[in-house]
Amino acid sequence: MTSIGDAWRLARQRIDRLDARLLVEYVAGCSHADLLAHPTRSLPALQERRLDALVRRRASGEPLAYLLGCAGFYGREFTVTADVLVPRPETELLVELALERLQHTDQPVVADLGTGSGVLAVTLKCLCPQASVVAVDLSPAALDVARLNASLHAATVRFVQGDWYGPLTGERFDLIVANPPYVAAADPHLERDGLPFEPRLALTDGVAGGDGLECARAIVGGAARHLLPGGWLLIEHGHEHALAVRELLRRGGLSGMATWPDLSGSERVSGACLVGGRD
Ligand code: GLN
Repeated sequence: MTSIGDAWRLARQRIDRLDARLLVEYVAGCSHADLLAHPTRSLPALQERRLDALVRRRASGEPLAYLLGCAGFYGREFTVTADVLVPRPETELLVELALERLQHTDQPVVADLGTGSGVLAVTLKCLCPQASVVAVDLSPAALDVARLNASLHAATVRFVQGDWYGPLTGERFDLIVANPPYVAAADPHLERDGLPFEPRLALTDGVAGGDGLECARAIVGGAARHLLPGGWLLIEHGHEHALAVRELLRRGGLSGMATWPDLSGSERVSGACLVGGRD
């Protein structure tokens, strides 16, 4: 039988040091302090085998979030399975922009299109409890994960299955947020950085030879019909998409187009609002 300290040492020869530590703590059910203070604590054979299997999966590129079954987003922990995209730090920018806009409305009505694990819908409901939030996804399996996350955080969110505005006929919102699939189908990035383990449906529209903007076209195209006067659409996109998305927003009848950079300086979120009366 090995010790947790030896298991950590062996694991970090195969994978990133922090990932190794988190996997040992996860499998052994111990804290970081335990690992440092009691490295000779034994790791039962069954746990050693489980750790070996997880280290092997991490070494083959599987995202740590899938191995641990959770990921942090905007200060909260969310359940994550291979049915949903791993939440990205750049999506936290969408939360900040959304919160700035929600401050100006009393009881805002909010839609999150393509909610995935539900991080946007649940975070916004937690931080703006007076909002009514509806979250849409095409994938029933993703909606199961999102519902679980809503209940973990005691957030009342209405979840509906369907394609973008499909289940929202006749509804209008003060704010629509979306982090749709935007990686072009031919982008080699899809084969790297753990992306082969994530649901294709969440990453790319799959249009052969496409530019990754198919979902943005659908979301922006329907916005004027689903925003209340003064309402905002905020959409995440690829770093090379900002100009094209602002043009889609303009053609979609929205005003005040803007783009914001993420923490790494890439143009990541664009948005615009519906001015005046209903179309
Ligand atoms: N930002 C992600 C990536 O490039 C893609 C997320 C998305 O398609 N919505 O890895």
